[in-house]
Amino acid sequence: MSTLEERFSLKGLRALVTGSSRGIGKAAAMLLGEAGAEVIFHGSRSSAKLEQALAEAKAKGISCESIAADLASEKECKGLIEKAGKVDLLILNASVQAYMTAEEFEPTEFEREYAVNVRSSFQLIQGFLPGMKERNFGRIITIGSVNQYRPSPRLVTYAGTKAAQNILMLDIAKSCASYGITCNNIAPGVITTDRNEKALADPETVKKLLSCIPAGRFGTAEDCAGVILLLCSPAGSYMNGCSIPMDGGMLL
Ligand code: NAP
Repeated sequence: MSTLEERFSLKGLRALVTGSSRGIGKAAAMLLGEAGAEVIFHGSRSSAKLEQALAEAKAKGISCESIAADLASEKECKGLIEKAGKVDLLILNASVQAYMTAEEFEPTEFEREYAVNVRSSFQLIQGFLPGMKERNFGRIITIGSVNQYRPSPRLVTYAGTKAAQNILMLDIAKSCASYGITCNNIAPGVITTDRNEKALADPETVKKLLSCIPAGRFGTAEDCAGVILLLCSPAGSYMNGCSIPMDGGMLL
């Protein structure tokens, strides 16, 4: 029987968390690092936030590096795969969204969201799968959204990208399980990050949203990080093809 520490240990594993300059990605990258993984922090470009995340991780004694790459660009995504090298834990967290109804459909925004949220996920999985298969081990986690089940009216394009990513997750979970690879998704509800800082500055919006959340509070990036650690760790190795709501009961 393994110890509690061994059940959650990621020693000897290398993680890439996309969009880890801030928010959920940063909290996840920190926790994976604290559990012993070597971590690649990533952002769309070199930024003070990306540097700060790296500095905070180093101060905690985490073995880490950072890579900047705009996932809207196929070329930069390819460069990220080449620079990253061996990746055992792939957390597909970066995404973009715009508040837009179907009637406001805008081809450029549609293409941007599908490129960053969906195409790059296919590209990164394709890039890292051969190594995972060779080593007979891999953990892939997509970060979806409660919107993948129940689109909010002004997020229909974004909701479509999250639903598409979920199907990709299910395919990998089924087709790669025999290689010791698991693939799962977490579906956050309202998590307090830079992304919704502006929306949550409005007391009316806060009141309306909280009335839909049985837990009576918004989630934190750390709430999401704990589940990501579980899915990467030996303790979570029998979980495959799951989509886990991280929403304080919002979907109920
Ligand atoms: P966030 O605070 O907005 O941070 C976004 C991260 O993604 C940043 O690291 C950003 O890098 C990176 N990124 C953005 N565009 C990129 C691009 N074109 N190429 C590469 N990286 C890019 O996000 P978050 O709120 O933590 O959300 C993380 C994930 O959870 C997302 O997939 C989101 O859809 C999902 N989610 C969040 C919530 C929520 O309430 N926050 C709810 C449901 C689902 P830079 O710093 O360089 O811009």
